[in-house]
Amino acid sequence: MTLLIQDKYPEKLFREDGKRLDGRDKDDLRNIKMEVGVIKNADGSAYIEWGNNKIFASVYGPREVHPHHLAKPDKGILRVFYRMTTYSVFDRKRPAPGRREKEISMIIADCLEPVLFLELYPGTSFEIFIEVVDADGGTRCASTTVAALALADAGVPMRSLVTSCAVGKIDGQLVTDLSGIEDKAGEADLPVAMTWFNDELSLLQFDGKVNKDEFNEFLEMAEEALGQVYQIQLDALKRKYQQIRDNVQEEGGDPEE
Ligand code: UDP
Repeated sequence: MTLLIQDKYPEKLFREDGKRLDGRDKDDLRNIKMEVGVIKNADGSAYIEWGNNKIFASVYGPREVHPHHLAKPDKGILRVFYRMTTYSVFDRKRPAPGRREKEISMIIADCLEPVLFLELYPGTSFEIFIEVVDADGGTRCASTTVAALALADAGVPMRSLVTSCAVGKIDGQLVTDLSGIEDKAGEADLPVAMTWFNDELSLLQFDGKVNKDEFNEFLEMAEEALGQVYQIQLDALKRKYQQIRDNVQEEGGDPEE
């Protein structure tokens, strides 16, 4: 079998100067940018660049459920469709949704459901379409984070936002926010998500081996990182409403009306 360039993982994930291969310290996040209201035809939408990840989320709903048999008489349903484009990864990804995409879609739905008032929308559905156009590790976390923003942009009543981030272990050291290469060549990966209305974790996955002390340290690191990502989410939402205010004022209107 031909060895692809990306099959050759680096032997060390830290440089001589103690920094990670992309220049980050152990507890640094990658650069994160978020924007809401990026897709005209969706009820709500958002875009995130998280390191080299580039992801769009679009929300529709509440609307009629198709196929009808999925509708529930006592509550609305949340359906999430996480997809990676064929060109989002080094090896061409098969276009049809695979087992991994179905699993991640389910996980994201489970993360977001606690903040929604689905009981107020019987017989209807909320649908979130997530398109990963560039992937480089941590796409489930970035997707959950951007999907929560898209729900807020759609004006869907929410108990709070949801924020997600991963922590992990590489070369025996605990680090925040694994890149694609760190995810593949590292020893452990722990994606978590926080629902802010009750400060509870709505996601805690774990792949790898760590001891109890390391696990507790993981949770502390995750809490710190989640707080930082949450601020970026809030800023993205505020920017949109500030823009609406500015536009109303420019047209001579009263933004309080
Ligand atoms: N990946 C890939 N091909 C695939 C699936 C994933 O190259 O078919 C890469 C992609 O960069 C992804 C990373 O592997 O971000 C880690 O994937 P994982 O399943 O751990 O999910 P993620 O970390 O993206 O949530």
